[in-house]
Parts: sequence; C-alpha cells; structure tokens
Amino acid sequence: MIPLILDPDRLFSSEPRQRELARALYAKVKDLPIVSPHGHTDPQWFADNAPFTNASALFITPDHYVFRLLYSQGVRLEELGIPRRDSGPVEQDARRIWRIFAERYALFRGTPTRLWLDHAFHQVFGIRERLSTESADRLFDHINACLARPEFRPRALYERFNIEVLATTESPLDPLAHHAKIRASGWKGRVVTTYRPDPVVDPEFDGFAANVAQLGEITGEDTRSWRGYLAAHRKRRAFFKTMGATSTDHGHPTAQTADLDSSACEALFEKAVGGRTSPDDAEAFRAQMLTEMARMSIEDGLVMQIHPGSSRNHNPQLFASFGRDKGADIPMRTDYVRALKPLLDRFGNARELTVILFTLDETAYSRELAPLAGHYPVLKLGPPWWFHDSPEGMLRFREQATETAGFYNTVGFNDDTRAFLSIPARHDVARRIDCRFLARLVAEHRLEEDEAQELAPELAHHLAKNAYRL
Ligand SMILES: [Zn+2]
Repeated sequence: MIPLILDPDRLFSSEPRQRELARALYAKVKDLPIVSPHGHTDPQWFADNAPFTNASALFITPDHYVFRLLYSQGVRLEELGIPRRDSGPVEQDARRIWRIFAERYALFRGTPTRLWLDHAFHQVFGIRERLSTESADRLFDHINACLARPEFRPRALYERFNIEVLATTESPLDPLAHHAKIRASGWKGRVVTTYRPDPVVDPEFDGFAANVAQLGEITGEDTRSWRGYLAAHRKRRAFFKTMGATSTDHGHPTAQTADLDSSACEALFEKAVGGRTSPDDAEAFRAQMLTEMARMSIEDGLVMQIHPGSSRNHNPQLFASFGRDKGADIPMRTDYVRALKPLLDRFGNARELTVILFTLDETAYSRELAPLAGHYPVLKLGPPWWFHDSPEGMLRFREQATETAGFYNTVGFNDDTRAFLSIPARHDVARRIDCRFLARLVAEHRLEEDEAQELAPELAHHLAKNAYRL
C-alpha cells in the first residue's frame, strides 16, 4: 500500500522564512467559511438531497478536467460512460469506469486535478492510500459505502464544507424550480442562482430563435420586438433576484462591447431572431447586449461577470457525438482595451455598477487588465479561471496584476466548478497560494506582517462577499 499524504506545508515556499510566515497567515484563514460566488454545481442536489450514486458518477463522468486528459491519452469517452447524443452504447459499469481512471492516475501528476482529487479522497473520505491500479477496487468500494451514509448527502456535505453561500448558474429559460424547492424547505444552506443569458443573447447559440420565443412565453413580453425582448430580460432578472441572484454571467467568445443607436439595435435584433446573422452581425449583437446588460445592472444592482475568450467546442467530431462542455474548449488570445471601450465610454464611471473581468489569456493581465481595473471604478479582476485555476496560475496572477491594480481591485476566489467535492480543495489551494504570495512580500520587506495578516482574510473571504454583494 502506498500512503496518501497531504503535507501541512504543501504549496508554501520551501524557503524557511517565507514558509514560516505563510504558516502563520494560513492559520488565520484556513477555517474561514467558504464564499463561492460563481460555479456550476447542480441545484437539484441540494433541492432533493438524494445520495450521490457512486464514485465514478461523482468524480469522473461530470468532470471535464478529468475526462479531457484521459481522452488526450487515447481513452474513448464511451469507455468513461459519457452519454452520446445519439443514445448509442456507452459503458454502464461504474467499477469498470473507475478502474480505467485509476490505472491512469499517473496522467494527473503535476496537475491541479490531482491536488483536488487527493484532497477530496483524504479529507472527505478519510482515505490514506494513493489511488492506483492495485487500490482501485478498495477505494471504489470505500467511497460508495460512504456515499450511502446520511452524512455524505449533499446538504450534509455543504454544512461540513463550511460553505456560507454557493452560487449556481442558470439560463433565463430555467424555471428555477430547484432553487424554489431549496428556499421552501427551510434548510439554512444558502444556494443562490446567477443570471446567465448566453442562450438568448448569442445568435450563434444552439436554438437561439426558439429560445428567444420561449423567453417571450415565460415573461408574457413580445420578444419579436427589440423593446419587448429587453423588457423580458428585465422581468427575468427580477425573477432571478427573488431566487437569490446577485450577479449575471456572460460567456462570450470575445470581450467585444458596442453602443449602437436604437434603430441599429432593432435591425440587428430582427436579423438575429430571423436567423439571418452573419458572424459579424452575431458579434455585434452580443457586443451590444453586454452594454444593455450593464445598463440593466445599474438599474437592478446585479454584478456583471464577463468570461470571454474560450473557443467552445473546438473539436467538431467530439461535439457531434457528445455535445458541449466535454473538455474541448480552448483558450484564445483576447483583447480588452479596445473591446471594452464602448461599454466603458458609456458606463465606466458609474458608481452603482461592478463588472468583474476574467481571462483565459494571461498575457492580458499586466498589459491590459490590471491597468484597466487599476483605473475604471466599475472594473474588478476575477481570479484565475479554468486552465489557470492552479498553483502556478494563481501565483502568476498575483505577480502580474498586484503592482498595478493592488489587492482591492480583485475579488477573492471563485471555484467555478461542477465538481462539488472539489470545492474545499480548490479554496484551500487558493488560500495557501495567497498566503505564500503575501509571505514573500513580507520576507522581502515590501509589506509589513500586520498588513499581510489583514489581507489574508480579505483575499480568502471578505473581498468575494463584498464584490458580489452577497
Ligand atoms: Zn463558470
């Protein structure tokens, strides 16, 4: 048996003075509650509070970080039980899926996925041996036995993880029935929704015209007209607020914004719902909608998040067989300075508005994002996202953004995950890396220790709560 060890000094600097400072800072933040203002967990888990079924359904099938790497090494998604669009046969035996994963656990060496999985095995399931071909069956049986117990149901885990608030992300077309059920249940856990309008804002989204028609039916507004369409958004945003939403989220291919006059907007909208948009029209429509969403945010107080720069569904064969969110989204170079200018010219100085910017293009941090957020009152920098939600990615972010934007134009950490069990691990990594970064500044006499002691809980908890108005 190979032991599974979580070293108490993991992720800290190996330099003794910095390590000692980081330990002291981490002691202040390790037990703070988790604020998770952006993510993709399934609200049904907390509404129904049914047990998770088995280790593979929990750790492998829903986690594109896991299966994309297995896929890159020749494992077919069918072998991992990922459902096909044509309902063709895929592996149904959870134990066989788990064995394929365990046999290839070495593929995750050096990746954040490995850190998150080991943390969950050790801290959530009390496992003390490393996952391998040899231990695969034992760990599978142990995890499944745990999942059958009441203390491993979703609500119990939420409480055990010390989560203060957890945001999910829904389309405007979602009836939010699970959120309503959670609220009606009297459970004290706080699960809130987020308004993510891409399906009715992006003319290139699957089924866009039908989605806009459905938005009209849901809201009783005439979404065949530009004015009715905007009114429908206002109504739906107000409804999302009743289900706890404090923010919106926009996953556009670029950060392009626009500020067109109303006749140009009407003409673009007609083309979009008529299915007659060119790629340039679609981009212009999405761009205009970011500015419209900013206008609505000034009215209703929802914080705006922009997650641009992902080339979605990059692998057309995989998309045809399995659909979206299957690990084939790839980062693109992203411009912010020119792209955001129309929105900023209109609303960049509005004190009521907060726009949180994310990037998959790290070269933009010191060149564009930190200078923008270090000036415009509406702008804040989101934490490292997706491929960069990693120890090295977090350090690069602090190193590249802090000198120009400071700490207070950042918003703490987002786990942004579908993998519920990884939430404590992800927050722990972020807390450790921030303590490591602060410890270095103190050791180099660029920051006093009392200031670092004040900053550590801000980065771990308070900034997220404040920025997202939670
Ligand atoms: Zn997200």
